[in-house]
Amino acid sequence: MTRKRILITGGAGFLGSNLCDRFIKEDYHVIAMDNLITGDLRNIQHLFKLENFEFYHHDVSKFIHVPGNLDYILHFASPASPIDYLKIPIQTLKVGSLGTHNCLGLAKAKNARILVASTSEIYGDPEVHPQPEEYWGHVNPIGPRGVYDEAKRFQEAMTMAYNRFHGVETRIVRIFNTYGPRMRLNDGRALPAFIGQALRGEDITVFGDGSQTRSFCFVDDLVEGIYRLLMSDYDLPVNIGNPSEITIKEFAEEIIQLTGTQQKIVFKPLPQDDPKQRRPDISKAKEILNWEPRVSRKDGLAITYEYFKSLPEYIITPREFQSK
Ligand code: UDP
Repeated sequence: MTRKRILITGGAGFLGSNLCDRFIKEDYHVIAMDNLITGDLRNIQHLFKLENFEFYHHDVSKFIHVPGNLDYILHFASPASPIDYLKIPIQTLKVGSLGTHNCLGLAKAKNARILVASTSEIYGDPEVHPQPEEYWGHVNPIGPRGVYDEAKRFQEAMTMAYNRFHGVETRIVRIFNTYGPRMRLNDGRALPAFIGQALRGEDITVFGDGSQTRSFCFVDDLVEGIYRLLMSDYDLPVNIGNPSEITIKEFAEEIIQLTGTQQKIVFKPLPQDDPKQRRPDISKAKEILNWEPRVSRKDGLAITYEYFKSLPEYIITPREFQSK
């Protein structure tokens, strides 16, 4: 039997590489594409030896050429942390807009089903809580997050236009805060920042008074939700995330407990347009995909901590240990 073929853009990134693993497990032929601006080949190097895995070093904001047929496309290429948007705002805008247009064009040409990675950021700093898919959002187009938020909103509009005008089979997942192995250590996000600080013996930096909330989903749960959405016949956006909500200060305290660090919390200024609250309403995912998260924050954080500790930056050799 010939294998189904799937293209995963952003395949060397945190989510993209976890998706590559999942589709390899399902015995697909997986083509990962990445320009490696924020992706890292170490996330997929274990797949290079497989005959059903290929890697293309390419920027999807430029015309995409993939030889042969494709059954599915997952568009996951994009910087995804507030620090990245500030450093590479134009690339962030381009990959969400031009990159999405290229992926949709490729899906049309190959007659492939495409799933695009949207985000809870399209809700902005939400005035409706928790956020259902019907909420249109509260976004500042010209703030520091605008380059990401507006590109992703454009992405959804473009995806629905290809669906309605060209009859392309499309899926849209709205991803809420997700964590797990292969998150980038220095992307400035709360979880790698806190764990990195604990491992380096630095104080834990909470922005603002830490009363803002987030709801963190373990990556394996997210991947399962995306898999089910891709296989479903539902073409409107679906929230995938973990509704268990926590303040950032409580989250920092959980990391302090997990790591056993002696350091304390220090408060730093809140970045502009930092959303005050965020929690997905996952009724749709439950009803349509029969999906809900299974991994508790306690278990997910323990797995993620082990991953960060295993990074070369943090392996303490006996000699270094003695000199401490
Ligand atoms: N945050 C923090 N300290 C840090 C990094 C982030 O207090 O060192 C806060 C950030 O201001 C936000 C929350 O943690 O309120 C989650 O930030 P993250 O960048 O992980 O995700 P996002 O803001 O995109 O949800």
